[in-house]
Amino acid sequence: MPANALVAACRHLWQRGILGGFGGNLSVRQGDVIWITPAGRGKACLKATDIVRYPGTGRPSSELPLHRALYRCGDEIGAVVHTHSPCATAFACRGKTIPALTPESKQITGRIGLVPACQPGSDQLAEAVVECVASVQGVLLLQDHGVLTWAADLERAVLMAELVEEAALTAFYYHLLGEME
Ligand SMILES: [Zn+2]
Repeated sequence: MPANALVAACRHLWQRGILGGFGGNLSVRQGDVIWITPAGRGKACLKATDIVRYPGTGRPSSELPLHRALYRCGDEIGAVVHTHSPCATAFACRGKTIPALTPESKQITGRIGLVPACQPGSDQLAEAVVECVASVQGVLLLQDHGVLTWAADLERAVLMAELVEEAALTAFYYHLLGEME
């Protein structure tokens, strides 16, 4: 059941400090239907009945155009995760890519792209992301905004969001310690 999986994923990412406040949104595609987190809600206490079915009733996340645009890029995309995870978002605001320092981060950081700043929720943001999709493998930093991951399934998209934040934190601490030497 996609709604239950989305609720569990939101809670997991919230517990890890990767989702907070109203920021971020998650979705899963099932055939022609998209299940997506609702607009204007914190992610810690969502219930399965809060998850919005599109098309359908309910108020989906304002980033629905971005999620829809990604799903149109290919049938292999089954889940999308967007976060404002603090450290990776700081790299995005600086317009910097995240350096690969550990074997795990090397799995992803070579594939991270950077999308120029666009208004959140806008069609321009969705179009800018679509332009980058073919040149990366499931991870984009959105300048002045946050992180975007996508994969065949929700578990993988969530894992990528975690790995991006972890790689950003490791790089941040690495440079901070270097300045103390
Ligand atoms: Zn956002």
